[in-house]
Amino acid sequence: MIKFLDLKKINEPYEIAFQEKLKSVLDNGWYILGNEVKEFETNFANYCVTKHCIGVGNGLDALVLIFKGYIQLGKLQKGDEVIVPANTYIASILAILQADLIPVLVEPKLETYNINPDLIQEKISSKTKAILAVHLYGQLAEMDTINIIARKFNLIVVEDAAQAHGAVKNLKLETDNLQSASAYSFYPGKNLGALGDAGAVTTNDAKLANVIYSLSNYGSETKYYNDYIGVNSRLDELQAAFLNVKLPYLDAENEKRRIIAKRYLSEIKNDKIILPFYDNLSNHVFHLFVIRTEKRTELQTFLLDNGIQAMIHYPIPPHKQKALVSFNNLSFPLTEKIHDEVLSLPISPVLTMVEVDYIIKIVNQWIF
Ligand SMILES: *Cc1c(COP(=O)(O)O)cnc(C)c1O
Repeated sequence: MIKFLDLKKINEPYEIAFQEKLKSVLDNGWYILGNEVKEFETNFANYCVTKHCIGVGNGLDALVLIFKGYIQLGKLQKGDEVIVPANTYIASILAILQADLIPVLVEPKLETYNINPDLIQEKISSKTKAILAVHLYGQLAEMDTINIIARKFNLIVVEDAAQAHGAVKNLKLETDNLQSASAYSFYPGKNLGALGDAGAVTTNDAKLANVIYSLSNYGSETKYYNDYIGVNSRLDELQAAFLNVKLPYLDAENEKRRIIAKRYLSEIKNDKIILPFYDNLSNHVFHLFVIRTEKRTELQTFLLDNGIQAMIHYPIPPHKQKALVSFNNLSFPLTEKIHDEVLSLPISPVLTMVEVDYIIKIVNQWIF
């Protein structure tokens, strides 16, 4: 059986280094916000070419804390509207709601699955104050166009980069947009994954960074002095230590994903299957390799019968979820079509070329 994602195998090369880190944290006797967290924040800020990185508990909290940070700075207010793709993982939308802001959903482009910038302007009202761009499946959203719209309407741009560690364009990432902040998740299955929950915010905005630091730690900069109604969402010291081990290999692992993706793209030939759009740049880190077919259930069963585990990301769009009942009667036909048709093939740095050969062969054999 080819597993969709073999986390044990992904982490195996790092096992000895992890054990050394565990021993060193044990020897240190300092478990919360210690040197490993500091080191990771420096390392990840350098990696992302941003001035600041704040480690937090997980990716959802990273997003919520960005919005709450802007609220504390007076740049956002309760009830402000935030543009967000309808086609995303629900966390993007939950984060907006948890910060008492109002998500305004926008349809994607069917080719890239990311937000369609051409449809943003018509959703902008006097209450719109921010855009949350999501780099879905590991492919950067059209940030140049989004940034132009944001400047025109004076909107804050926040990035949900939970699936896109290391995706870059022109090597300048967000350095040209001083207003922005990005949220990362290090959930074990992400391209940079911890051995538990972990997340981070990156930004060039020093004031925002300070507020988020404080908000994530009880709203306190100095112990027992509380400036804000904060939360407890700190990056765990051990997880930071494990991430320090893995970060230097992230680019090489992303490159392996791209090599597999390129093989799928050139060798899968099945007219019942739509392959993802890719322009061969480093703006895609293939967190997922997502294909589409009208007979998704049949294909998934066929693959499983042949020993290949494929998964659906995601089966139900956020606006159709029970949790978002007030959105349930909204209509986003493209988002719904995507959720009905997508299927993710295995892709990971530990998938062997023999396994890739086999997956391509079986996918090409599928007929209905
Ligand atoms: C994983 C993910 C999140 C949330 O990250 P957690 O660490 O699980 O909280 C947010 N947005 C997107 C797009 C994700 O894929």
